[in-house]
Amino acid sequence: MLLPPPFVPAETVFRGIGVGSSVVMGSAYVPEALTAERRRLPDVPSAEREVDRFLAAKGRLEEDFLAARDGLPEGLDAADREIFDIYLSVLREPGFRKRVQDLILDRRLNTEAAVSDALAYYRVRIASRLDPRSEYLVDRADDIDQLLDSFTAVLTGRERFPKGGFSERTVVVVRNLTPVELTALPRQHLGGIVTENGSPTSHTALLAQALEIPAVMGVAGIVSHAASGQRVILDAAEGHVILDPDRDARGFYEIRSASLATRQREIVRMAHLPAVTLDGAAVEVCGNLQLVDEIPAIMSYGGDGVGLYRTEMAYLSRITLPPEEELFGSYRRVIEAAAPRPVTIRTLDLGADKIPLSLGTTFSAENQALGLRAIRFCLKHREVFRVQLRAILRASVHGNLRIMIPMVSNMEEVEEARAMLAETAAELAAEGLPSREGIPVGIMVEVPAAVFLAAELAARCDFFSIGTNDLIQYSIALDRTNPDVADLYQPLHPSILRMIKTVLDTGRRTGTPVSICGGMAADPVSASLLIGMGARALSLPYFNIPRIKRLVRVSFLSDLRKLAADALRAATAAEAGSAVRSWLKSKHSDLLAA
Ligand code: PEP
Ligand code: MG
Repeated sequence: MLLPPPFVPAETVFRGIGVGSSVVMGSAYVPEALTAERRRLPDVPSAEREVDRFLAAKGRLEEDFLAARDGLPEGLDAADREIFDIYLSVLREPGFRKRVQDLILDRRLNTEAAVSDALAYYRVRIASRLDPRSEYLVDRADDIDQLLDSFTAVLTGRERFPKGGFSERTVVVVRNLTPVELTALPRQHLGGIVTENGSPTSHTALLAQALEIPAVMGVAGIVSHAASGQRVILDAAEGHVILDPDRDARGFYEIRSASLATRQREIVRMAHLPAVTLDGAAVEVCGNLQLVDEIPAIMSYGGDGVGLYRTEMAYLSRITLPPEEELFGSYRRVIEAAAPRPVTIRTLDLGADKIPLSLGTTFSAENQALGLRAIRFCLKHREVFRVQLRAILRASVHGNLRIMIPMVSNMEEVEEARAMLAETAAELAAEGLPSREGIPVGIMVEVPAAVFLAAELAARCDFFSIGTNDLIQYSIALDRTNPDVADLYQPLHPSILRMIKTVLDTGRRTGTPVSICGGMAADPVSASLLIGMGARALSLPYFNIPRIKRLVRVSFLSDLRKLAADALRAATAAEAGSAVRSWLKSKHSDLLAA
């Protein structure tokens, strides 16, 4: 891929994170910056009038959020609407109203300052409870900033975007864009968006993806270089933005735009071919799903189903626990969209770096990765678990569902989880609510204790899925979120390869299907070894599915077996990876570069 193009000076290419896979050429629209004035009020009567001003703005915003949520196009689901519910829950929280009123009346702050200070409290709450290095959590802090922007717009009465719409294909270039603003933008002439803030998992990005609006996010400093009316090229596939492109650059991007569209069609067309090696071994390649919105992408990228549905993600960004009805709706939508293909729904893996605001005080701060995580949390907080199990069981009649329990380290956890499932199914039956009988129940094998207990666990499990991310963390004794030990995170560490081999062999001996859903399944080097060691089911992020399916289609299983046998004899990660890397480089270098 030709990037950056040789005729575009490097300094005029702005870089960020792309959302989407197309190129947009249009003119920039840079809205006026919203700045909130900070003032002290002179006396009590003016503070009392200010409280009325605050309440009026709050009421207007509630109406706007409700209208924006309900005005989203058909086909988007609860998760897309969730950000509006988060905003509404903050606005309606008695504590928020009281905090702002106190700041106005006691400290004599104007509304802009009082709201800003009150929202800072939520930002601190997010930052202190959750690991700020995690993208998911940083995004929630961004959401709070966006709520402040919405307040400022209402209080100052300034609209950031023309009500009447854009006159030509427009790329909005802005420091921050709230989901509400995104949904309110006139879409018929909207080419794309460029933001300084945000990340690919922010709600604005998720909405842009769901609404198929190309975007580049996290582009530092672009707003001060851009002006409304200026020509702009947005390359969402590469995350590049070019201001004032010359004629050559425009010509280049016209060609690139056409070839990207062709490539995208080709990837999607080829992705639907089955993954079978040249000597006839079939490998199931499923997608990992965090958000309900990813299900169409998993299907269109050729996923054979969902091998890992990380259900805890829906709990993280909210102030209250999601109700059963909402969970049921999300699970049902995923299961129906995948059917007849299977969906492996993982029960809550809360804890460690995934602690929701609603349960922040439940977890002690020390050593969270070794603490109350996943099934350990669920068995201690059965009311939370029961709500999820009810939603899962109710959704089970809508397709092909399997249930997977994370972080199992002993037999008792499997027995207790199974007992709770049976009790919950009986409770639903007594209420006249059906659930499917004989749903396969399996576990994640992701701690060494489960590896060495695999034969016994197999007697009570219908399948295993190896979580290599945690298996590496818990085996090599390194916190997977700690950058100080990032260099020691070695997927091809001989101990890891040998543990995976043990589980695959135990699975074969006991007739227990074994899938692999950690990061190793998405990388062509480690995936080659996994298949060579005997894995016949992998689950990975949707955008890697076509590449891994292609790896299978261009390989002989006999070659992969030999490479795996050599890697299993190695004493270091470097040694274990060297033969497979040279094989890929010499025979299938496109797979390494893609
Ligand atoms: C894993 O541990 O490999 C896994 C797939 O689960 P998660 O990344 O969600 O912990
Ligand atoms: Mg895990």
